[in-house]
Amino acid sequence: MTHAHKLDCEAAESDCRFIIQSENEDEAIELAQNHMKEVHHKELSNEELREEHLQTV
Ligand SMILES: [Zn+2]
Repeated sequence: MTHAHKLDCEAAESDCRFIIQSENEDEAIELAQNHMKEVHHKELSNEELREEHLQTV
């Protein structure tokens, strides 16, 4: 069974509809990190993203 790692930015930033979904956790984190930095000007660590924002679906 394959799991995907998903970040729904709307959960973190109420006005943002950005969604990342990837079967590769590292890739999902990297994409999320770039998005948070470029769009929201937030520097989030891998750990923060993994523990607080990523969902496994
Ligand atoms: Zn966003």
